[in-house]
Amino acid sequence: MTRNDWTKEEILEIYNKPLMELLYEAATVHRIHHDPNKVQVSTLLSIKTGGCPEDCGYCPQAARYHTDIEGNDLMSVSQVKAQALRAKASGSSRVCMGAAWRNVKDGEEFDNVLEMVRTINKLNMEVCCTLGMVTENQAQRLAEAGLYAYNHNLDSSEEYYKEVISTRGYQDRLDTIGNVRKSNVTVCSGGIIGMGESLEDRAGMLVALATLNPQPESTPINALVPVEGTPLEEQQKVSIWEMLRMVATTRIVMPETQVRLSAGRTDMSREGQAMCFFAGANSIFAGDKLLTTPNPDVNEDMEMFKLLGLEPQKPFEKKSQPQSVSAEESQYKPLGEKPKWSRPGHTIERNVEAKQKAKTKA
Ligand code: SF4
Repeated sequence: MTRNDWTKEEILEIYNKPLMELLYEAATVHRIHHDPNKVQVSTLLSIKTGGCPEDCGYCPQAARYHTDIEGNDLMSVSQVKAQALRAKASGSSRVCMGAAWRNVKDGEEFDNVLEMVRTINKLNMEVCCTLGMVTENQAQRLAEAGLYAYNHNLDSSEEYYKEVISTRGYQDRLDTIGNVRKSNVTVCSGGIIGMGESLEDRAGMLVALATLNPQPESTPINALVPVEGTPLEEQQKVSIWEMLRMVATTRIVMPETQVRLSAGRTDMSREGQAMCFFAGANSIFAGDKLLTTPNPDVNEDMEMFKLLGLEPQKPFEKKSQPQSVSAEESQYKPLGEKPKWSRPGHTIERNVEAKQKAKTKA
């Protein structure tokens, strides 16, 4: 049975168990709820890159840090379709489209994204979007277009979130997840380890996710990839042991969720990844880029699957395919809302320094 009343103390106790016990327990939970030989393969597509007004300390897409990434405007529907077909041919069952926006705004660009959702859903692939904060009406419009999942990460614990981002609050994240939950779209939400947070913060993030009722259907666990020019550029990379503990703990407290190995996989050996699959990870991102950071080559992943006897999960194995309603037949019209998402605006010293450094460089 899935519990929604986990406490930080209980989660820390699990996280700190002797490793072999932790892995055994996680693998046991995993086998009860999932086929241990199936792993979902998703392709992440950056449909609008860079120029983001937010100040997330880990992100090279934040305009204020002037990193070396190449920005691009919103891709066209035909470009997205071509990429989705390529992803399908190489074994992906899901396409996740990411746009570097603070929040979704009604208008032509969002209409185009809705058309991308319809197009990919018609290719019989699961469609996920990560577009920033959304209102309930926008979530309903995405659902009507045939969106399968919406990603909105909590990133860290509520306490540590304030050390990484000052341009929006934790409650905004929870409100967006709540808005998605009111539609027929599944929730994908997870976070990042290695940003300088404590073990309590890791447990705090898992409390926030595991006490959502229902829990997210999908939870990405990212290891920070420190990018030059961002405030977190000097963070030490997390070890495989920390990743393993985080994956195993997530699996135990969120038994039904698809736990995804996300950013940082290029730094993991095949042996390390195999241990993570054993501990309950059952989803990966394929493709050589994760939005802007490196990711293993898709052929390497397929070789690894062969070696480990893993199979890619077919689309819609966990939930049936949504019907796409055309723009003309839509029940939900754009409301042109101007929601007041918060701007805490507190000072994060390292974010300010990174911004000043970028200005001097420019
Ligand atoms: S993580 Fe998303 S919201 Fe934050 S700066 Fe990057 S693109 Fe913008």
